Order: sequence, then C-alpha cells, then structure tokens
Amino acid sequence: MGKVIAIAVPKGGVGKTTSAINLAASFAVAEKKTLLIDFDASGACSLALGFTPDKIRGDIFDVFSYAKPIDKVIHKTDIPFLDFIPALVPTYQSEQRLEKLSSNIMFIANVIRTQAEAYDFIIIDCPPYLKGMTTNAMAVSDSLLIPIRAENFSLDALRKILRHVEFVKRTYNHRLKIEGIFFTMFEPHTKVSQLAIDDLSENFNGYLLKTMIPKNVTISESAFKGIPAVLYKAVSKGSQAYLNLAIEIMNKN
Ligand code: ADP
Ligand code: MG
Repeated sequence: MGKVIAIAVPKGGVGKTTSAINLAASFAVAEKKTLLIDFDASGACSLALGFTPDKIRGDIFDVFSYAKPIDKVIHKTDIPFLDFIPALVPTYQSEQRLEKLSSNIMFIANVIRTQAEAYDFIIIDCPPYLKGMTTNAMAVSDSLLIPIRAENFSLDALRKILRHVEFVKRTYNHRLKIEGIFFTMFEPHTKVSQLAIDDLSENFNGYLLKTMIPKNVTISESAFKGIPAVLYKAVSKGSQAYLNLAIEIMNKN
C-alpha cells in the first residue's frame, strides 16, 4: 500500500510546487513508483513538467465532476517510475464549479485511495489556502509535509495549518500524521534564518526535518525548462538537497 503525502501550507511562493515536483522526481529516481497529483487550479505542476495543454487528456477536475474515471487522467511522464495527474482550469466558470465540487470530500478521498495499491508514493501539490482542495488533500493523505521559508508570515501560516490538522483529524481522517516541516529557499548565515530556526526548534522540534533546501538558481531555472531540477542538473546544491529530502523521508518510513 503506497503512502499518500500532501504538500501544503496556506501561503503562496514558499516552494510547495517546486518541492512536490522535485520530491516526486527524487522518489522516481530511487525507483519508487510515484504518482504526482496537482490539486492547484493554477496548473503550475504541468508547466514545471513540460505538460502543455495539447498533451493533457484530462485532469483531476474531470474526475471530481464524474466526467472521467481516474485511470483515464493518469499521464506517463518522460521520467520512468513517475506518473502525473494534471489540474487544468481554463476559465473563471470552471473555477467556480470546482469550488462547489470540492465540498464532496469523502468522494474525492475514496477516488484517490483507489490508486494507493499501484504506487509506492502519491504526492499531492496543494493550493495556497486551506479551504477546498487542501482540505480534500488532507482528508485523503497519510501525512502532511510542510515547506516554509525563514520569514514571519510563513511561521504564521505554519501555525494555521497545524491547527487545521486537528480539525481534519476529528472530522475526516484520524490517520493524518505530520511527515515534517522543512525550510525552502534557505539562506544560511542571515539573522532571519537564525530567528526562524530558533522558533521552530523551540516550538516544533519533533517535526523539523534535517534537510534544508537552499535558495538555488538551478531550481528556478529548471522550472522554465519544464524539467525537475533533480534531472535538469542533478549535481546542483538544490537538486542534491531534494534528493536528500527524499532519502530522509524514505528512511523515516
Ligand atoms: P508555491 O507552490 O508555494 O507557490 P513555488 O514552488 O511555485 O511555490 O515557488 C515559487 C517560486 O520560487 C518559483 O518561481 C520557484 O521557481 C522559486 N523557487 C522555489 N524554490 C526555490 C529554491 N530553492 N531556490 C530558488 N528558487 C526557488
Ligand atoms: Mg504552487
């Protein structure tokens, strides 16, 4: 039975999508059968994996709206061991519709669960807010992985999602665990990094993962190329950090 991990925190630009893609690709490099699912209507995972609209046969929202069964929207990627379900929401109207569909939380959770047998890991990339799709992802996941930047707003978002975990556990999914919290776009030796490390060590020590993802140009560059950084330039510091993060998580499981 594969493990379902949601990557979420209610804040944009902290590296959720980058982490979802590079972690999924790192698991695949380690020959773990992995499914990456985009739950964010902005569709950034598709861009980062080089999936232009003409290559997309259907998406996660087709599944939620009963238009297609889930196996029809699983796309093979160029990376062996990595499959992908995109999110493609072309209009405001479809976004509105989606918002309504996402209230059917147990239906969505059950559909995703049907794929857990076929994979070692299922990674879900979430939007930058808690309602709707993030809550859906937390309702189906075994664990939650939280990327944060060393800044005050990120820590605030972290506290917010940890409170939400308690709600989701009571209401939908008592199995939900915290996989860990990790720093992204980390710049060592700055005052603010030290403050953030102190805060996390003091308040969330048990959750803080050892691996920190540094701020690194290869990571931002690779997103433009439509290739995960861990494949675009495996020797870069950013790629090595994501490979280490994958190893840290595999060792924990
Ligand atoms: P989110 O999904 O949380 O909104 P993204 O993963 O889209 O965040 O990242 C936001 C931006 O930061 C993107 O342009 C991405 O390429 C860049 N980025 C993410 N991680 C790093 C990193 N470690 N070093 C440099 N740039 C990064
Ligand atoms: Mg994102």
